[in-house]
Amino acid sequence: MDQPGRIEVRPIRQMTGTSEFNEVFFDGAVARAEHVVGGEGGGWKVAMSLLGFERGVSTLAQQVGFAEELGRVVRAAVESGAVGDAVVRERLLRLWGELRVMRWNALRTLGSSGDAGAPSVAKLLWAGWHQRLGELAMLVRGAGATVGPGDWSASAPYELDVWQRQFLFSRADTIYGGSDQIQRTIIAERVLGLPREPKGVV
Ligand SMILES: Cc1cc2nc3c(=O)[nH]c(=O)nc-3n(C[C@H](O)[C@H](O)[C@H](O)COP(=O)(O)OP(=O)(O)OC[C@H]3O[C@@H](n4cnc5c(N)ncnc54)[C@H](O)[C@@H]3O)c2cc1C
Repeated sequence: MDQPGRIEVRPIRQMTGTSEFNEVFFDGAVARAEHVVGGEGGGWKVAMSLLGFERGVSTLAQQVGFAEELGRVVRAAVESGAVGDAVVRERLLRLWGELRVMRWNALRTLGSSGDAGAPSVAKLLWAGWHQRLGELAMLVRGAGATVGPGDWSASAPYELDVWQRQFLFSRADTIYGGSDQIQRTIIAERVLGLPREPKGVV
């Protein structure tokens, strides 16, 4: 950040009202040769390794959080009586089953190496799961889910409760770290060996 040239960091405000990440602009910025991660010409490899980590390994611990979130939705459904609705029960059980599948897939991934599709499979599973959990949490809470906990006319218009934040942020789960469509393309081409997508065709 302190080397010659200009590096501008612009926070991106999300619909949750927070800014966890930024746009970073490099204008004439120069790095010392020994600071080049992965060596000259190795950028693509470094980026792909990092993305593999973001999609798979780094999310293993996330499953503990997912189990807690699911438990919270189950408790809310029991307390509100929503659990008496057959559709809510079915969706809760499906989410529970899918979380078990994710756990087994994670353990299987830890025990193997070199599977090019493993991070993409993991990302596809958890991203869609987390979004469906957010949707179910909103359903369980009913109309109350649409009302914020704070004074929305005040200086912090985005005061959200834990459910609303989870629901809104999970909309991005199937986008960041590579969208669902990109994960499917990776699995199709690198795991199943299907013909590559035509490049540059509109
Ligand atoms: C909350 C959040 C945090 C983020 N954090 C970071 C970060 O820290 N660092 C960073 O660098 N980036 C970050 N991103 C950016 C993120 O990686 C990109 O948004 C994401 O990879 C999708 O790229 P894009 O937005 O350019 O969509 P596009 O590439 O424009 O895609 C638009 C749509 O077309 C589909 N599509 C595109 N190409 C294909 C294809 N070949 N085959 C099939 N479908 C295709 C996509 O799936 C998508 O539905 C973040 C994004 C979000 C939402």
